[in-house]
Amino acid sequence: MKTQSLTRVLTGGVLLANLLCSVSYSVVATLHEMHGRRRAFDITLRGRADSLLAAARNDAPTRNLLTLEPSQLTQDPDDVYQVLASSGRVIAESPNITPDLAAILVSQPAADYFDFTWGGKTYRALRLPSQRPDAIMVIYAASTSDLRHEAVEAAEFYAKSSAALLFVVIVLVIWFLRSRLSPLKELAVRAGRVSVDSWDFDPPADALRTRELRPIATSIQTLLHGLRLSFERQRRFTGDAAHELKTSIAVLKSSLQLLTMRPRDANEYQAGVSDLLSDISRMEDLTEQMLTLARLEADEVQSSQSIDLSRIVKSITARMQAFAVLREVAMDVQANESHLITMQPKDADILCSNLVLNALQHSPANSILLVSVRCVDSGIQLHVADRGEGIPSAALPHLFDRFYRVDTSRSRQSGGTGLGLAICKAIVDRSRGNIQINSEPGNGTEVIVTFPGSL
Ligand code: ATP
Ligand code: MG
Repeated sequence: MKTQSLTRVLTGGVLLANLLCSVSYSVVATLHEMHGRRRAFDITLRGRADSLLAAARNDAPTRNLLTLEPSQLTQDPDDVYQVLASSGRVIAESPNITPDLAAILVSQPAADYFDFTWGGKTYRALRLPSQRPDAIMVIYAASTSDLRHEAVEAAEFYAKSSAALLFVVIVLVIWFLRSRLSPLKELAVRAGRVSVDSWDFDPPADALRTRELRPIATSIQTLLHGLRLSFERQRRFTGDAAHELKTSIAVLKSSLQLLTMRPRDANEYQAGVSDLLSDISRMEDLTEQMLTLARLEADEVQSSQSIDLSRIVKSITARMQAFAVLREVAMDVQANESHLITMQPKDADILCSNLVLNALQHSPANSILLVSVRCVDSGIQLHVADRGEGIPSAALPHLFDRFYRVDTSRSRQSGGTGLGLAICKAIVDRSRGNIQINSEPGNGTEVIVTFPGSL
């Protein structure tokens, strides 16, 4: 993919804006300058025409007495003029005037000022009638070549000064952007150093001080922290799962080796195959629990529904009644009213059966196991309390870790994989609930799960 440089884009944008400003400024300043000069030219033209008008006399009785005092005139030698009587008769004219130029002057429309071209030169002329009774009129024209020359000079001056200014701005903008964008570059460099083997990300102090970069830097930090935890959890899970499977397979293999070591009678083979089947069942359970965890941790949103937790508890305890009788444990189930929570029925089933099974497995004979569902301020609460041996306080923080067992040998004997509580935690987290285990060695264990109620 083609990449873009932010510095270049920003520099380009700022320079383009500056270029537009410089060009606009040059054009406007030149136009303004020209307007001023043209007005000054018009005033000069009018002054010359006025002085010519003052110097011109039309003697009406004789119609040929003209008084023109050249010393009173201030016109340029290149200027051309004509002084006309009201009849159109030429009273006086400049020495450099030619018949075709005179024709142009008189043929122009009756406007105060007008422009025309003659002999390759541009002229601006003024038609100025006298206010006196002799009713003469002066047409005075002067070349605008100087005016045009001055316009070009003014435009050059403004263009050059704008270009010089633009150059200074370019240097300043590049320097400024480079220095201001350096925290962003440093942030990108440090983020680029992060890899599966090196999760360390220390955002640059400059980026944390920059208001726009701070959220990006902290988000990267939080994201990487979460990813690292998840990655390590997955790695540990894979290692633990492989270890568990390997142990089960080793048990299976040694059972088979034992069975085939010497010839046996039919009864011995039957007992051996039955042991093998129970080993395989345990592997099946382990695989199923691992799949359940994987399903719960998958990102896909599963459709939850409103279910009655009391009904689930009653159904689970009824199903486990035979096991409770076997272990000589009495179950006190308090779940008479209906209490609705939002969850998949299958997950509620797994959660309740894991907790009740744990409690039954750890309850001593002739003890009472309490299972209740009730409504509390914070929502709906499931309470499972046994009178078993309890859990040492050092083990409490690890109970929700995968494959964690307090007493490994005892758990293996009972077929435990150490995934039950991890699954319970994943289910409760998914339904935005809270699970808490209180236990004291010798005083039994209580598990309290609180769910937000379903309306
Ligand atoms: P499984 O995955 O089959 O449930 P498990 O019961 O060993 O195996 P968890 O349910 O996760 O695994 O329990 C983890 C450990 O916590 C157990 O090995 C056990 O030592 C301890 N534990 C759980 N519940 C209780 C309880 N009610 N009383 C005493 N210890 C308990
Ligand atoms: Mg368990």
